[in-house]
Amino acid sequence: MSNVTLKSIDKHYASFHALKSIDLDIAPGEFVVMVGPSGCGKSTLLKTIAGLETVSSGNIEIAGRDVTTEEPGDRGIAMVFQSYALYPHMTVRENMGFGLKIMKRPQAEIDAAVTRAAGILRITDHLEKKPAALSGGQRQRVAIGRAITRQPHVFLFDEPLSNLDAALRTQMRVELASLHEQLGATMIYVTHDQIEAMTMADRIVVLRAGAIEQVGAPLVLYRNPVNQFVASFLGAPRMNFVEATVVQAEGASVTVDVAGLGAVTFGELAHPTPAAGTGVMLGVRPEHLRIGAGSLVAEGRLRLSEELGRETVLYVDAGPLRAVGSDTGTDNLTLLGDHANVPRTGETLRFGFDVFDAYLFGPDGKTLTAPKPV
Ligand code: ATP
Repeated sequence: MSNVTLKSIDKHYASFHALKSIDLDIAPGEFVVMVGPSGCGKSTLLKTIAGLETVSSGNIEIAGRDVTTEEPGDRGIAMVFQSYALYPHMTVRENMGFGLKIMKRPQAEIDAAVTRAAGILRITDHLEKKPAALSGGQRQRVAIGRAITRQPHVFLFDEPLSNLDAALRTQMRVELASLHEQLGATMIYVTHDQIEAMTMADRIVVLRAGAIEQVGAPLVLYRNPVNQFVASFLGAPRMNFVEATVVQAEGASVTVDVAGLGAVTFGELAHPTPAAGTGVMLGVRPEHLRIGAGSLVAEGRLRLSEELGRETVLYVDAGPLRAVGSDTGTDNLTLLGDHANVPRTGETLRFGFDVFDAYLFGPDGKTLTAPKPV
């Protein structure tokens, strides 16, 4: 049985089609992370589940009950926002117990729920303080604690860590993941941060322009994106894309020509082979473009390197082998190197990759290459 079921959800704001036929089943205890570019509808989808936005059509079921027209307070959900939304005049204890108080639960039950949640979140020492006396991370814990005390069927998080600095974000990310394990609760989490998505999710939902592009386990999406959009969205630095032209197609095998690289043959495509002359896109991730290695070799000049400590990001001007739509806004290729073998800026380097690490995308952006092992 699923805990949250979205059936053909559509949402219109006047003439703007914000959510397009969203279908999704979320299992009890699952941690689902929604990602996508700004404006793709992540928050809108979360708000429709919460009941803070109505749907134009479709149905929402939570714990086996159709809640499509129910008020937020009746849906069995608890939402945690980026802005914490704590009551400044109330103590931490009062903030955390407030949901249960308005549900008119007995004081003993409220006290027990607050004590338990405060223990889980390690904020017991702060219960009598007002939010103004707390750090950002502590405030966010109170907001999460307020959600826990309500014992919801589903937790909804809308970019809860965005206001925190990098160190605290990492700490809270780890805490949220262990909280999920401890509570075994269903969680739906919206973020811009792909590290949060990759590390916390059981499944990631990638949205674009109000529609679901792909749903799957993080590594499945990373290894086997269904299209160029998902391939470019997951992975940092992002995948390199270079234009290619089909020169020969035989059965499931295809040979493409890439300027600056030559002929590249893919043994087995999962989709019908495009005809000779078709323009396609070859994709290879920075971590698979290696200095002095690989069976497909190219040459370029190092334009810039960024030392990150554990690894170095290299931007390479490879002449006719040009990247399309890169992060840098240039046609440089992005490589990941180990600082021990990074040449000096301006020097020429040889680099390469193996065809089994590469992807081919058709003219409509769909992935043509066969799924890779995960
Ligand atoms: P971000 O990552 O920037 O928060 P998002 O993916 O969460 O973006 P939404 O906030 O869900 O995006 O918005 C989706 C689209 O719906 C946007 O184009 C936005 O302008 C539009 N939209 C959201 N709320 C309304 C509204 N009340 N009226 C009209 N349009 C809206």
